[in-house]
Amino acid sequence: MIVVMRTDASPEQIEAVRAKIRELGYQDRPIQGVERTVVCVLGQVYPEMLDELSVLDGVETVLRVSKPYKLASREVHPMDTVVRVGDLEIGSGRVVVMAGQCSVDTEEYTLATAQAVRDAGAHVLRGGAFKPRTSPHSFEGHGAKGLELLARAKAITGLPIITEVMDPRDVELVAETADILQIGSRNGQNFALLKEVGRTDKPVLLKRGMWATVEEWLLAAEHIMTQGNHNVILCERGIRTFETATRFTFDVNAIPFVKRESHLPVVADPSHGTGRWYLVEPVALAAIAAGADGLIIEVHVSPDHALSDGAQSLTPQNFARLMERLDVLCQALGRPLHPAVGQAPSAARGDGQRP
Ligand code: PEP
Ligand code: MN
Repeated sequence: MIVVMRTDASPEQIEAVRAKIRELGYQDRPIQGVERTVVCVLGQVYPEMLDELSVLDGVETVLRVSKPYKLASREVHPMDTVVRVGDLEIGSGRVVVMAGQCSVDTEEYTLATAQAVRDAGAHVLRGGAFKPRTSPHSFEGHGAKGLELLARAKAITGLPIITEVMDPRDVELVAETADILQIGSRNGQNFALLKEVGRTDKPVLLKRGMWATVEEWLLAAEHIMTQGNHNVILCERGIRTFETATRFTFDVNAIPFVKRESHLPVVADPSHGTGRWYLVEPVALAAIAAGADGLIIEVHVSPDHALSDGAQSLTPQNFARLMERLDVLCQALGRPLHPAVGQAPSAARGDGQRP
C-alpha cells in the first residue's frame, strides 16, 4: 500500500502519516519525489487501513500496490532510479560499462587488465576476490589479498571497483574496497546476505539467480531495499534452460520487461550469459539495443591463464573492438556511452592471445 501525499503537504503532515503507519505495527518507507512524497506501507495490510490513512491531513490518496514487490516497482516509484558512484550515473540514459577479470589472480595480470579496460573506455573495474565455485576444488579467490590488488588497480587507473561478496560476515570488509557490492547469481536467495548489504549505503549489483523468475529476482531486490538501501542495480546474466549449447540462456526479454516493471537500472552480463568469448559481443549489443543501462564483461590480458572463466573472457583487443561497436550503436540509439571516469594516468595496454 502507498500513501500519496499532496504536493503542498507539510513535513509535519508527512511525519504524522509515518507515525500512524508505525503505530499500526507496519514499517514506513518515504520516497521523496520531485513534486511530492509517497510513503510506502510495508507488511500484510488489511482493507480498512486504506480508509484509516486516507483521512489524515495532507494525504491525496491511498493505493493498493498490486505487485508482490513494492519498493522495486514502478507503481510505487514511476521515475527511473539513477545509482551514483562518484561521478558515474547508472540508469541515467547513458550506457555504463564494467569490465575486468572474472577472478583477481596475479598482480601483473590484474594491473595490466585494469589498465587495458580503462584505456578501451570501461567505467568500472570488475574482479572477484571471493569466488562462488560449483566445485570446492576450484580456485575460490584470493580473498582479502585480492581486495588489496583491486585497491591498487583503482589507485592506478582511477576506476571504481565492483566485486562480489558471498558471506554476510564479509560485507564490512568487502565494502572497504568495493564501490559497488556484487551479489552473485548463486546468492540470489541468500536472504541474510541480501539484508546485510541492504544495511549498507553502497550500491549493490544484484545478479539474477540462474533459476529465478523475474518476480523472484525483483523480490530479492526488495529484500535489499526494505533494509533502507535503494541503490540497487539489476543484472541479467542468463538462466538455466534445457539448452546446453551455451553455458546459460541469456534472457534478452527480461531486459525491457524489467525496465517496464521496475524503476531500477538494469545491466547485462553477456559473459556468463553465453560462456563463450565469441558470443559476448553480439549478445552485449543485443542487450543494449533491448534497453539495458550498461554491461558487465569479463576481460583478461591472457584468457588462457585465467584462473576462472577464461573461455568467456575477452582479450583487450576484442574488448576494445566491442567498445568501438558499442559506441556506434549507442549513438544510433540516442543513448550515448557515459563519459570516461578516473583521472589517473594509464600505462601501456596489455596484450591478449586472441586477435
Ligand atoms: C561473476 O560475475 O564472477 C559471477 C560468478 O557471476 P554469476 O554470479 O552471474 O555466475
Ligand atoms: Mn566469471
